[in-house]
Amino acid sequence: MATKRKSTEAWRRILMIASASVVASAASASEGAGDSEGEARSLASEHLAAIIRYATISPGEDAPFDRAPFSALADFLADAYPAFHAIAEREVIGGASLIYRWPATASADAAANRQPIALLAHMDVVPVEPETISAWTHPPFAGVVADGRVWGRGALDDKGSLVAMMEAVERLARDGFAPVRDIYLLFGHDEEVGGRAGAAQIAATLKARGVRLAFTLDEGSGVSDGVIDGATTPVALIAIAEKGYVDLKFTARADGGHSSTPGAQTAVTRVARAVVTVNENPYPLEIDGVVKDFLNGLAPAMPQPQRFALSNLWLTGGFVKGRLAKSPLTAAALRTTTAPTIIRGGVKSNILPQTAEAIVNYRIHPRDNVEAVRDRAARLVNDENVEVEIITGNEPSSVSSVASPGYGAIASTIAPIFGDVPIAPMLTLQGTDSRHYGDVAADRYRFTPFIYEADDLEQIHGTDEAVSIDNLERAVDWYAAFLANAAGRD
Ligand SMILES: [Zn+2]
Repeated sequence: MATKRKSTEAWRRILMIASASVVASAASASEGAGDSEGEARSLASEHLAAIIRYATISPGEDAPFDRAPFSALADFLADAYPAFHAIAEREVIGGASLIYRWPATASADAAANRQPIALLAHMDVVPVEPETISAWTHPPFAGVVADGRVWGRGALDDKGSLVAMMEAVERLARDGFAPVRDIYLLFGHDEEVGGRAGAAQIAATLKARGVRLAFTLDEGSGVSDGVIDGATTPVALIAIAEKGYVDLKFTARADGGHSSTPGAQTAVTRVARAVVTVNENPYPLEIDGVVKDFLNGLAPAMPQPQRFALSNLWLTGGFVKGRLAKSPLTAAALRTTTAPTIIRGGVKSNILPQTAEAIVNYRIHPRDNVEAVRDRAARLVNDENVEVEIITGNEPSSVSSVASPGYGAIASTIAPIFGDVPIAPMLTLQGTDSRHYGDVAADRYRFTPFIYEADDLEQIHGTDEAVSIDNLERAVDWYAAFLANAAGRD
């Protein structure tokens, strides 16, 4: 171990010297113009490392919430980004969430005609399971910069993009950027546990003030490289909708009694039959508008004959659907999924239980809704002795436009930073804070300007979460270019 650490450290120094000389030669080549750029770039990784050290953990349901690291993180932001803090207004919401507003510099009349936009990120992270800590290359809250990466819980989800946003607005503020519309940065503190104390309160605050956003831009997707089966180039995926969620509880009732004289059905058989029935009657797979746009967008990244198949869905739709149905991941994008997760009943082997219950978890496609899922399940179960009720649920999001100026600004900022990669809208299967902004934003997009490889996706909520410095620097450039694009002109 010690040897490994030593050689890693040696490499880090070599890389630092090498990168310093690259920066130096770039600076002299452009007569000093690259100097402040180079400085900001190396700072991004140090700033991310620093905020990873604040253990802003969203604990499980029963554990107490510790506000102190969130306050410390907020103080750090104020110190690290002075130019932005000199221009923007900041408020604390819900105890630990942050609203930043960078007011438009246009005249009040002109600004009133332009809706504000908002960048969303979250400050909280999921806990690290104690038994996995020893498996981390660097401790999860040490904030280590090594081997071209920033290591630690939150590096990818979601402190990396938060820091990239802050670096970008700091750079723009220093450069005298004058937004023509208000820019909000909205940082929640409890995304990982549903966002009710954070994002939901921020959205309620904006709504009460009559703020109407043109769009929000949040995590939830990015540039995928080697993740999509068969794709031969990276693909920029912009999520325009997210699934809903509902837990249904099936409660079966029956007469109790001694197991020596059972009736035809017990509570156990009734609940078991209900679970099997919903599982064997899944929602049909459908290629609808979002999936069509996704597959059409993906086509240029695919070799033949897939490219032809994806570009001609009118002809190949049935075949493509069959292929997508084979993978649980792609099938999940085509329908509301059904997952029985808990079943329980009975206490003793020789007693007929009077009740037995099961929980079935559904991830709801935007074309369905919570009530409709409950009604369909009750209809399928069709047993007056089995009650079907909603335990918790979130409606799926609306589907945001791919024809809006907001989508256009995201899409047109991709080529300058990532090259000429295919761009495809998609449905994200994860939940994000965006779900809370339905009342204040016409459109809600989910795109983090990182290149994600298959390994990265395993690190999110897992071991050895890390983001490459390249990814981080590219993201700073992307957010700065995006804001110039979306808020720097009409
Ligand atoms: Zn996240």
